[in-house]
Amino acid sequence: MKNAVHLVGEPTLPEVKMHLIPPTAPAHGTVVSNGLCMKGKSASFVRHVCIDVSGTEMAGNFRSGQSFGVLPPGLDAFGKPEKVRLYSIASPTWGEDGHGRVLATTPKRLISERSPQRKSDPLSDHRLFLGVCSNYLCDLQPGDSVSFSGPAGKRFVLPEDPSQHDFLFLATGTGIAPFRGMAMELLQGPPADSPWRADWKKCTSRIELVMGSPYTTDLLYDDLFKELSLHHSNFHYHPVISRELRNDGGKGEYTHQFLERRLGDHYDSMLRNPRTLIYICGLAGMQMGLFRILGEKGLGTGYLTVDEVIADVPPREWTEEHLKRRVRPTHRCMIEVY
Ligand SMILES: Cc1cc2nc3c(=O)[nH]c(=O)nc-3n(C[C@H](O)[C@H](O)[C@H](O)COP(=O)(O)OP(=O)(O)OC[C@H]3O[C@@H](n4cnc5c(N)ncnc54)[C@H](O)[C@@H]3O)c2cc1C
Repeated sequence: MKNAVHLVGEPTLPEVKMHLIPPTAPAHGTVVSNGLCMKGKSASFVRHVCIDVSGTEMAGNFRSGQSFGVLPPGLDAFGKPEKVRLYSIASPTWGEDGHGRVLATTPKRLISERSPQRKSDPLSDHRLFLGVCSNYLCDLQPGDSVSFSGPAGKRFVLPEDPSQHDFLFLATGTGIAPFRGMAMELLQGPPADSPWRADWKKCTSRIELVMGSPYTTDLLYDDLFKELSLHHSNFHYHPVISRELRNDGGKGEYTHQFLERRLGDHYDSMLRNPRTLIYICGLAGMQMGLFRILGEKGLGTGYLTVDEVIADVPPREWTEEHLKRRVRPTHRCMIEVY
């Protein structure tokens, strides 16, 4: 539903389809391909998995930025069927094939050591812990069947008319997935035989993608984003590495620290412009650093609402609790963190 009162810069989001396939009656897709998508050899494993969803309600009915559910086989620790897990769609709205029949996602293997989850779990058990669904997805081979639900999500999508806005995309890790689809959608467009081709217009708005990663080798879809920035002067790709020295010798930094450092020469006017929309996707909590900087620099108007309970607290003194409970994103600040 569109809002009756439209604030300055507030985007008009498209009506999206949701929950066409419930997890209680999943559909079945077929894996088309499954390959690593990191930049180099890394301690983590992230894959680009393409799934053919033809003949299901999902085909032609998802949008870039939405997610879908995967139902891994087997039973959980309580003997119940494994629960659905959500994964971002990494494809443009027309999918990998141009007809909305093949979607891609970007699962990262969850590999850890066991830690007690219940009071009765022994403290000393530190054997290997493998996340159920991420490893299931990463193990799949072309031709394998996968049960899925979806689509899910209605807020983390591109506006109906992208030409009315500029875009600041902030990602960490697999949070890059929706921005792959969105960037392809805004800049590359559908193939010639796609039903989406006739209505597509290249977006000439300013698009800034800031991708945070611990090491350069962990960057995802790096070649694609470099290629896009080479061919589209309105698209700017900034890999931000936290555990390596920068090219200028400075210390590694997180996405919000990069933005703060570059505010004066690069982002201040963009953030003050009512055209700008901010999209944040990745690690839970990554939005906190940005919220604090927006507040401190007087750039929060349009992106944040601050509860009157903390109206007199200077933003530099906002606590984690304030940021979690008292500072809320507006319709110009879309957040998908997990
Ligand atoms: C909207 C949305 C989009 C998402 N998109 C993506 C995406 O594009 N790519 C992606 O990789 N993920 C994505 N996720 C996360 C994804 O849904 C899963 O949460 C993730 O893959 C882990 O699932 P799993 O089944 O592998 O882990 P699980 O088996 O469900 O384990 C999950 C958690 O339980 C803890 N845990 C459970 N038991 C133990 C134990 N015995 N010892 C230690 N720890 C334990 C672990 O710390 C772990 O964090 C998304 C989530 C959301 C909500």
